[in-house]
Amino acid sequence: MAFVEAAQALYQWYKSHGRNLIFRETKEPYPIWVAEIVFQQTRIAQGMQHYINFLHSFPTIKTLAEAGEDELMLSWKGLGYYTRAINIRKAAQKIMEQHHGIFPTDFNEILKLPGIGNYTAAAISSICFNIQKIAVDGNFYRVFSRYYKDDTDISGAKAFTYFENLALPFLEKFPGTAGDFNQAIMDIGSQICLPKNPKCTICPLNKNCQAYREGIQSQFPVKKSKVKVLHAELFYEFCYNQNHFIAKKRNQEGIWKNLFEFLPISEDQWNHFCQNSPSIIFHHKLTHRNLTIKIAVHRVSENEFKSMVKKEGNIKMAFHNTSSIAFAKPFTQFLAYFDAFGNPKTLFLPND
Ligand code: SF4
Repeated sequence: MAFVEAAQALYQWYKSHGRNLIFRETKEPYPIWVAEIVFQQTRIAQGMQHYINFLHSFPTIKTLAEAGEDELMLSWKGLGYYTRAINIRKAAQKIMEQHHGIFPTDFNEILKLPGIGNYTAAAISSICFNIQKIAVDGNFYRVFSRYYKDDTDISGAKAFTYFENLALPFLEKFPGTAGDFNQAIMDIGSQICLPKNPKCTICPLNKNCQAYREGIQSQFPVKKSKVKVLHAELFYEFCYNQNHFIAKKRNQEGIWKNLFEFLPISEDQWNHFCQNSPSIIFHHKLTHRNLTIKIAVHRVSENEFKSMVKKEGNIKMAFHNTSSIAFAKPFTQFLAYFDAFGNPKTLFLPND
């Protein structure tokens, strides 16, 4: 009976307290798919305007499939993890080529699309097509490992299937659709069953939650393997003359795929530049990498600038127009130090 009672409490809570989100007003797969990708690694409040803008730029699967690379990157600007943008366009192209432009309705076909894993396929197929699939993500692990006081290692290879099976009886008793169930757990996990200080007193699952009953919520979920964070240093020359500077596009390998940066240089070159030029050091965190970005600021003569612009891959950019292309985040932060005429806004650079 505990299942029935808890499933009903969860449903009632979702109906009255579930988040009122723009992409929940539709069952159309395209906006729901885009939402699932945009909000994978971006908080809803932070990414909502980007989401709206993205759909405005690419209102259909077809427009997304036909998007130019720079246009796509620019639309994704501010959301980070640009591989998602590359994959979502690849998936749109595949839908155009293999599904006549119509989003597939079969779970396994959805799973074959680039950038879509088990969680996203389950979320889309349950919400749009009411397929009985459970969307297992970090929120889900947290809620159910606590609810059942289950210490199964969530970083283990079998965790996904194990927890999916654990929650199936719960889904079977849930009065709403599978989509409602998944969205209810997403909301409980992000609003109530928080990693630190969960709000158990207002949680609809508190009556039968075993971790809450014993006051051991913080011990769950259990995650044994920790991903090692690497440290790396990157060196750049920021080369400018009057109100222009030089940018360069990164290739498809490694971090910041297809985004723009300044001119990469070696550590020796950086040391050399720093003897006569100002420099600035940024610390930037990626998921598994801590970066130290060292930029030597190099004001060159007009002739020198002209000859540098001619070098393959170098692009002349105006300070007043930096938002026309997508820079990787640390470079955007750096450029914010300059006004539209290339004058430093703060004292870190000599205003020469
Ligand atoms: Fe999480 Fe507390 Fe709800 Fe249990 S009662 S599911 S620990 S918020």
